[in-house]
Amino acid sequence: MFELVKYLEAKGGSLPPFFGGLYEEITARNGTFRRVKRLEFEVLLRRGDLISARASSSCFLDTLTPYFRWKLPKVPAEALRCILFMFRKLAPLEVLLYLTFERGEWEVVFPSQIQTEHSVSPVGSPFLTGQNGAVIEIHSHHEMPAQFSRVDDEDETGCRIYSVLGTIFTRPTLRTRVGAFNSTFWEIPSDWVFDLPTGISDALSENSYLK
Ligand SMILES: [Zn+2]
Repeated sequence: MFELVKYLEAKGGSLPPFFGGLYEEITARNGTFRRVKRLEFEVLLRRGDLISARASSSCFLDTLTPYFRWKLPKVPAEALRCILFMFRKLAPLEVLLYLTFERGEWEVVFPSQIQTEHSVSPVGSPFLTGQNGAVIEIHSHHEMPAQFSRVDDEDETGCRIYSVLGTIFTRPTLRTRVGAFNSTFWEIPSDWVFDLPTGISDALSENSYLK
């Protein structure tokens, strides 16, 4: 039987190799973590504190440090410039794009979608090629801030990079997070994945991440 989710405890100084299903839920001394791995990236993100019943026995467990390992070249600045141009052209409608890495090159894909000024969603089945579909999904918030909405949280249930580009006419700003299935996220600096062109800033600076 194929195991989709594995539950384990952080012990012995290092984690075992990823088990090959969807994700792992890991209990560590310093909280609960989730690990996912696909061809393009691997992430260990912290989900929260231990529930009190586990806290007393957790002193025997290892402490984990979250990590994100990106295995592709960064998305070139020119691609983001083109995306911003398209988002501006189609404003005030929201726009959804996929970025895929095929045969050594980044491709921007415009899927069939239902667009309004406050939402955008793909039509039909999710974009599926490769291991878990497009590795990056980016959408426009046109003049609104680059903040993920509650609807975004509900929609973005996959294992991929999710980005939102906001305030596109005044101060184009990109916010990026890793999705690790069922709306479990970790916001990361956009330049871990993108080469940011001049004129597009990151909503989450390295400094704020490190605090
Ligand atoms: Zn949104």
